[in-house]
This record gives sequence, structure tokens and C-alpha cells, in this order.
Amino acid sequence: MSKKIILPGAAIGVLGSGQLGRMFAIAARRMGYRVHTFSPDSDTPTGQVSDVEIAASYDDLDAVRRFAQSVEVVTFEFENVPSATAQIAAEHAPVRPAGSVLHIAQNRIREKTFLAKAGFPVTPFRTVESFEDLTQAVTELGTPAVLKTAASGYDGKGQVRVTNANAAAAWESIGRVPAVYESFINFDLEVSVIAARGLDGRPLDYGVIENRHTNSILDVSICPANVSPVIEKQARQIARDVMDALDVIGVMCVEFFVAGDRIYINELAPRPHNSGHLTFDASITSQFEQQLRAVCGLPLGSTGLLRPSAMANLLGDLWSGGEPDWAAACAHPAVKLHLYGKMEPRKGRKMGHLTALAADAKTALQNVLQARAKLTNSVQPL
Ligand code: AMP
Repeated sequence: MSKKIILPGAAIGVLGSGQLGRMFAIAARRMGYRVHTFSPDSDTPTGQVSDVEIAASYDDLDAVRRFAQSVEVVTFEFENVPSATAQIAAEHAPVRPAGSVLHIAQNRIREKTFLAKAGFPVTPFRTVESFEDLTQAVTELGTPAVLKTAASGYDGKGQVRVTNANAAAAWESIGRVPAVYESFINFDLEVSVIAARGLDGRPLDYGVIENRHTNSILDVSICPANVSPVIEKQARQIARDVMDALDVIGVMCVEFFVAGDRIYINELAPRPHNSGHLTFDASITSQFEQQLRAVCGLPLGSTGLLRPSAMANLLGDLWSGGEPDWAAACAHPAVKLHLYGKMEPRKGRKMGHLTALAADAKTALQNVLQARAKLTNSVQPL
């Protein structure tokens, strides 16, 4: 693999075109790089702030080839691209993280099997490829549990809670596709650790972030998380060790469940993550700049937190009574507004987020929630 440093002025290729790519592109352009984005869509959150936007299918390997030939390095903001896409790209430019990392992280069976074999603490699980496997898993692990499709699951999609009574219905409801059957964890807290690893192989992390979900979609993130020093140390070490074990060059998010003094990995994302959006405003180096530095072979920046912070997602639901009152949310001087340039505010769609910085995490959370509430206090009906 080439260890050449890719310097400002070079073009960086991004597979995927959502808000993660948008914030990556903003960080990259700020440092004088050019950004080419590739996805099936046009006028995308990433494309709007890129130098070049390519709208083509991930299966259009000629288009992927031309894209990779036009950049110095390829990274991604969306891990569900076909393996062949990453392979073809890698013939023309380094792909960071490598396609082998994508291959593992885009499939829950491969991901959990890899982590369990490497000795990492994952939620107890069984692989399910038939209804017989499911019956066996119910016998072995008991209920309640969660049945999750192996591929294409995010924000709670492709998941169903399993009790003794509904195994057959659960199997039908996920479409009888390969899945993992996971024990239901009665967790106290969900947390994540964003880590970064550059070409020299030394991992860094941003500490522990608390995540609260509503309807399986991330609602708020709070940093630093209120966890014991033992859990903090364990979570951070695991995140670094997972990066090493997978030889990731880039940024990775490891999501955990914390139950008493135990910690379980829920899932991995081999890219910047929604729970790390607060690093854009609250950290010396954001997760997006860090991804850029890592994939370009530059020294990594400090992950130090400038101030405690909290992030609240803005879903399309907020538009149900008309355009949200942006000025009211901006009235708080330590709240930052981020919007992703998406035209259609659908229910559950991530349209933007707010970040608040404060002297402590509790105040940051209060401020960000207050600011979000103000968005819909005085909306003008359409
Ligand atoms: P996931 O897409 O796997 O991150 O799941 C979405 C959300 O569902 C998680 O953030 C949890 O809140 C919940 N969840 C998923 N798996 C489990 C589990 N094994 N036990 C308890 N809650 C879970």
C-alpha cells in the first residue's frame, strides 16, 4: 500500500453522498482539498459542497473506475457499497478504510462473528439462516431477543423483537433472510466511542459519548458520557483494539450497551458517525477532519474536547407544522445549527442537527433540547 502523503490541493473521492460526506467535504475544502462524490443521486448533501458530483450506480464499474482514476484516495461515508465497487476503485487509488473492512462491517453475521472470534464482548448471538436455526437460537439463548437482518439494517430497520410467542411471525416479518438472533440487553445506557487511526497505525479516540434513541433512531448524544472510570477505560480500549484488529485507516465508531459493570459491542461503523457530529463544534479536530487526515496520511489532530457538548438530531417530523423557526433556535448563543441541504423533510429523515456547548454536559443537554423545542413553538403553518 502506498504510504505517500496526500497533500492539500489533491482530489479526494467519497463513496456516498449524505450528511456525513457533506461534513467531510466541508472539512476537506477548508484544508484546500478538492472533493469528488459518487452516489446514484444528484444535488445531494455531499454533492452540494463538492467540486465534482458523479451520479451513477455503485454497480456501474466503468463509472467507478473513472471516478477512482480522477482522485488520489477513495474513502466513504456509506458502507453499503458492493464489494466489487471497492475492489475496482482499489485498482486505481488507495481505498481507506480497505474494502475488507467494508465487507465485514456491512453484514451483521460477519461483523459479530469476527468480533466474537477476536475475543471482543458482543451481545450473545446466533446466526440464523433458516426457521430451524431460529428455533434453535430461541432454545439456546431464550427470549426476549432481537432478530436483525444481516444486511442493510440501520436506524432499527430490519429488526424485530422476539418473544416465545412470535418467532414464526418475526421470521416472516424480516422476509426470511439471513439474520442474527441477539439476546435483548436490559441496558442502563447506550454509548459510543469514535476512534481514528492513521497510516502509522496508532489509534486515537474521542472518549465516551452517551446516545439516546427514540424509535431506534439516534435522538441526542452527550459528551462526555456519565460512565464509571472502569467502563470509560474499557470502552476506549476496545474501540482502539477493534481498529487495530481490522487494520482500519480512517475513522470508526463502536457502539456499546452498558449494563451494570458489563459492556457489550452493539455494532461498528467504519466511518464518521451521527454520535460524533458534536465533534464538529466541540473538539479540537472533528471526526471529519480526522478522517481526512487519516486517509491522506497526515498526522492526526488532537481529539481534545473544547467544552462539554450535546447534539440533538433534527428529523423531518419537525416540519409537520411548517418551516421550523430557525431564528428562535439560533437565539441561544452557544447553540450551532447544521442543516444538510435535503429538500424533502420526510418523517424520520435526518435533516440536520443542533449542537450546544456548555460548562458541563447536563447544561449542554438542557440547552440543546430547549433550542430544539423552540424550533416548533411558533411555526407558521404552510
Ligand atoms: P442497531 O441498529 O443494532 O443499532 O439497533 C437500534 C437500536 O435498537 C439500538 O440503539 C438499541 O436501542 C436497540 N437494540 C438493538 N439491539 C438490541 C439488543 N440486543 N438489546 C436491547 N436493545 C437493542
